[in-house]
Amino acid sequence: MNSPGAPSRGAVGTSSRDGRFAPSPSGPLHLGNLRTALLAWLFARSAGAGFLVRIEDLDPGRSRPEHEAGQLADLAALGLDWDAPLVRQSERRQLHRAALERLRADGRVYPCWCTRAEIREAASAAHGPLPEGAYRGTCRRLTAAERADRERSGRPPALRLDAGAAEVGFEDRLHGRVEQVVDDLVLWRNDDTPAYNLAVVVDDGDQRIGEIVRGDDLLETTPRQLLVQRLLDLPAPSYAHVPLVLGPDGSRLAKRHGAVTLADVQAVRGWEPADALAWMARSLGLAEDGERVTPALLEERFRPARIPREPTTFSG
Ligand code: GLU
Repeated sequence: MNSPGAPSRGAVGTSSRDGRFAPSPSGPLHLGNLRTALLAWLFARSAGAGFLVRIEDLDPGRSRPEHEAGQLADLAALGLDWDAPLVRQSERRQLHRAALERLRADGRVYPCWCTRAEIREAASAAHGPLPEGAYRGTCRRLTAAERADRERSGRPPALRLDAGAAEVGFEDRLHGRVEQVVDDLVLWRNDDTPAYNLAVVVDDGDQRIGEIVRGDDLLETTPRQLLVQRLLDLPAPSYAHVPLVLGPDGSRLAKRHGAVTLADVQAVRGWEPADALAWMARSLGLAEDGERVTPALLEERFRPARIPREPTTFSG
């Protein structure tokens, strides 16, 4: 359901241009997350498309209903609206499972017992076309005896996609052509939850998302998602990976940078949500210094081609 501050604009899911914001409810959103949400909203609304919010609450250890409520309240406080239905990934396990089974039936799934340390070690010893840190397919090459041995250990495996070292490319609206050899990504985690790269593709497909706008820290996950999309016969949306907000030390904005959430900047700087929106708008070249703006005004001014390509710094 929409929150009271975020009235719906009507039926969604009919347009193939619909956009979305997909936060993980593992903590409060900071100004960087909120600026990405604003951009996703602007891309969708300025094109007359629907805008959906999907709560990516698959990680049972980190997701909290109070964070979800806080995140939605912050979006509404900025004046961003979204269309029904609000979706929670945790309620869509069956869809994720069905996709996994389909890939399994196609012979593309294998169990993997590798620990993080083993993956790191194999990656550092390897050469070839796969990007740094990629999974090198250790468990794909296990002999039957080795596999039986691991099965007997009783340690639950993760399930990986046999990506066949596919090279996948796409045209990002801001970054241009991106091409990458895809590694054998995890589809299902060994704690029995769907992995992000599977769930996000299944849900974007099911919700008929036409345009994915998200932070450019996720750029390198996209070829993986495109491969999964392809294997599941889902339509490929367009993508715009937008620049991030950084802390003063040049790393991605985070809690440790200080007062970075809407509540923090209110407490520390006396900023109302409208002041935070004005800061975001200025950082995107959509407002003058000191100018008050509304989402509707920004929607009029917004031109996707003109958004800055460089990250912005915020000192919390
Ligand atoms: N849930 C992911 C995050 O909060 C975003 C996923 C996406 O936009 O594709 O980082």
